[in-house]
Amino acid sequence: MTKKAFQAESKRLLDLVINSIYSQKEVFLRELISNSSDAIDKIYYKALTDDSMTFNQSDYYIKIAADKESRTLNVSDTGIGMTAEELEENLGTIAQSGSFAFKNENELKDGYDIIGQFGVGFYAAFMVADKVTVISKALGSDQAFKWESEGADGYTIEPVEKAEVGTDITLQIKENGEEDDFDQFLEEHRLKSIIKKYSDFIRYPIKMDVTKSKPKEDNEEEYVDYIEEETINSMVPLWRKNKSELTQEDYENFYQDKHFGFDKPLTHIHTSVDGSIRYHAILYIPETLPYDYYSQDFEKGLELYSSSVLIMDKCADLLPDYFSFVKGIVDSDDLSLNISREMLQHDRQLKLIEKNITRKIKKELETMVKNDREKYESFYETFGRQLKFGVYSDFGANKDTLQDLLMFYSSTEKKLVTLAEYVERMPEDQPYIYYATGDSYDRIEKLPQTEMVADKGYEILFFTEDVDEFAIRMLMSYKEKEFRSVSSGDLGFEDDADEAESKEKEADNKELFTAMKELLTDKVKDVRASKRLKSHPVCLSTDGDISLEMEKVLNAMPNNQSIKAEKVLEINVDHDVFQALQKAYDGDKDQLKLYTHLLYNQALLIEGLQVDDPVAFTNDICKVMVP
Ligand code: ADP
Ligand code: MG
Repeated sequence: MTKKAFQAESKRLLDLVINSIYSQKEVFLRELISNSSDAIDKIYYKALTDDSMTFNQSDYYIKIAADKESRTLNVSDTGIGMTAEELEENLGTIAQSGSFAFKNENELKDGYDIIGQFGVGFYAAFMVADKVTVISKALGSDQAFKWESEGADGYTIEPVEKAEVGTDITLQIKENGEEDDFDQFLEEHRLKSIIKKYSDFIRYPIKMDVTKSKPKEDNEEEYVDYIEEETINSMVPLWRKNKSELTQEDYENFYQDKHFGFDKPLTHIHTSVDGSIRYHAILYIPETLPYDYYSQDFEKGLELYSSSVLIMDKCADLLPDYFSFVKGIVDSDDLSLNISREMLQHDRQLKLIEKNITRKIKKELETMVKNDREKYESFYETFGRQLKFGVYSDFGANKDTLQDLLMFYSSTEKKLVTLAEYVERMPEDQPYIYYATGDSYDRIEKLPQTEMVADKGYEILFFTEDVDEFAIRMLMSYKEKEFRSVSSGDLGFEDDADEAESKEKEADNKELFTAMKELLTDKVKDVRASKRLKSHPVCLSTDGDISLEMEKVLNAMPNNQSIKAEKVLEINVDHDVFQALQKAYDGDKDQLKLYTHLLYNQALLIEGLQVDDPVAFTNDICKVMVP
């Protein structure tokens, strides 16, 4: 019998597989089982439509058997089988599906990953076996054939005896190497867990003889081992079941089984889509924050199945970053199992699924805002930050998607409110959506800058997270209402009389303000009469685009660029302190310096900023106490 060489491209793939250092060698079993399942599909559908064939559900199964002594692992099926020609064509050359074609050498290097993540098909057997024997009898044929290969140097095909239609694959499992443990692929437990992991939802039973033990009949203390055939896989995937058949508990168990989290899911979305894309999905929003969520280590992604066979643990392309907290699975019949990562990224189907899923999650959350506020708030406490990052990142590309999911604490409602709710109750004359920033609600509440706006009866949104103001700046407006910080130079609601009055005050005290400004060179851009203060003597506001809060955030970043806000010291000219300032200006210049520094430092402290020189500040206070 002559040995035939593999077709050139197959040989390249085979070399790659054999020499693979990839750790997930276990996927070979997934590949073989999936082929068996395909083969049973073929005979099963034939039987359904062919009246001359009798068909019996229990005839269709896959059987796995390991024998430690001979170091063989057997995968057999009652599928459609292969003729000699088919053995030659399918196993001697790359599968017709042709999905595994290397484009360039880089991809070849990448191949190690490809093997782990994506199907390489039948050849994966050579990752764990020195020799692979395939005995197959095709449906409608009297003769069975044996295909055998020890890898790269070719294969043989010869006629053999086999009673039933189907395929029997025997792997001669490799000896353990220094770093490789191949014995594991002969261990019952290990095999069971690999089957569970990758092939749990294969539609046909995957059977295995499992060793069990029971108490002896005459002596309950002693146990005897016995062998029993067990079906390892659960067969029907949850996501392909009808929603009405499933209970809340089923979904929760599945979440736990899949190790999506230690918590209970906050909510789930179960969807089956049939149309230009077809897929089934179960998606979960976790209740608690994964411990590594806001760290570099966190990897987003959904489990991806192709016709119930797992092809990827974490398919990142299925989720946008702003929904990266979503867990779950997607199963589509439209994806090929043998698919390289590069192809996956550009896969049109996958993109469509992502778009579709994103819409579903958004809808679910929007419904929750309306119908289950408490739940949404709990969600928002946990993942709201991510949504705000989502608004801010990608230059605001997703702001429209996300704006109705945002919530901020309201000065008047004393709870989280949505932007829609805010705008809904805005008085007609209110020009802007106002916000104030600070470390806590408590502190913001006490900010002098909020006085005037609050006095007008306007609602103020409290921003306590560093990302808040950045996100809002990106949003710019909501329902055509612009956002405006209570610290901004222009609050937009002065009437003409006010305007004239403040101009006058400004002019009257021009020299005093100029003198103060000089005393604060490098610290503030300007000193002005305040239009927003009522009971407080001073506050800081800003000109330009950078707010005080943004300055704080930007300067705390690792690549600190010392970005400075243009600070303005605002003085309440109706406050008694102002008279003290005027008096000092007219008389004692040292006293003016003292007061100016005191007021400036006060303004910093009120903002939650640090005073530049605490010792000088406390000395200044002492000077006031003991002149
Ligand atoms: P793919 O499954 O993507 O086609 P594989 O390398 O896994 O690629 O398999 C190549 C071909 O070999 C299959 O398409 C099928 O025709 C055939 N084949 C493999 N295993 C079996 C089997 N157990 N029964 C029948 N045909 C099989
Ligand atoms: Mg295959």
